[in-house]
Amino acid sequence: MPELPEVEALAGYLRERAVGRRVDRVEVAAISVLKTYEPAPAAVSGRTVTDARRYGKFLAVVFDDDLYLVVHLARAGWLHYRESFPSGGPLRPGKGPIALRVRLDDGSGFDLTEAGTQKKLAAYLVTDPAAVPGVAKLGPDALAADLATFAGRLRSRRGQVKGVLTDQTVLAGVGNAYSDEILHAARLSPFALSDRLTDDQVAALHEATGRVLGDAVSRSVGQKAAELKGEKRSGLTVHARTGLPCPICGDTVREVSFADSSLQYCPTCQTGGKPLADRRLSRLVR
Ligand SMILES: [Zn+2]
Repeated sequence: MPELPEVEALAGYLRERAVGRRVDRVEVAAISVLKTYEPAPAAVSGRTVTDARRYGKFLAVVFDDDLYLVVHLARAGWLHYRESFPSGGPLRPGKGPIALRVRLDDGSGFDLTEAGTQKKLAAYLVTDPAAVPGVAKLGPDALAADLATFAGRLRSRRGQVKGVLTDQTVLAGVGNAYSDEILHAARLSPFALSDRLTDDQVAALHEATGRVLGDAVSRSVGQKAAELKGEKRSGLTVHARTGLPCPICGDTVREVSFADSSLQYCPTCQTGGKPLADRRLSRLVR
């Protein structure tokens, strides 16, 4: 799932490549992707791309400063920038991964795509980003929050820090992958309780959040659109590295189920060498 760094890179690429271009037309192939009826996609034709922004994990393309295409890429969605499109008629509804296409006046444009069968990609055409429910509920941006804001938000919710950190209403932008990385960098157990963290632990978590996300943004920015891939992240230490050695201490990265997915962590770096109990498994055993 694309998180803050990947969406930031996409927004940056669009700002560089698409701003100033006029829209020829918007084609919707998967009608279920578009969650709004008014304004209609035809309202975008003839307008100029004036900005691209990120709201947490949401991407917004701005037309004439007052119309927004807000996109949540969900688990398997992505934005592919095309220098040109194959000749032929407009996008046909139905088959294939392309859900929505925006054609610009220089022949380039972008496709919103979604792989797999679980269709969660969501696009909204709105005159105010806050009209999108997920955007309206976002907490402060995880990369922009200062220590006081970060600490206040984190302690406002009681729960396992992994869950609190990925709750978009607490802090916006961090998902499953980068929360694993941040907790590893801060040497904290993912199951530590958010309201019981010491001031030093909160400060370490804040520092790790800025560093991990900042590094990931710098790695992504400057890549060509074709190289921007949400699912192929580089520089990860524990996430999706179950069974591989921790690059810090050499211990074996372990995995445990969490919510509807799983998390990865290093026992030596994060949990005093003790493996975390897999609650889902122990519930089954009991
Ligand atoms: Zn380690």
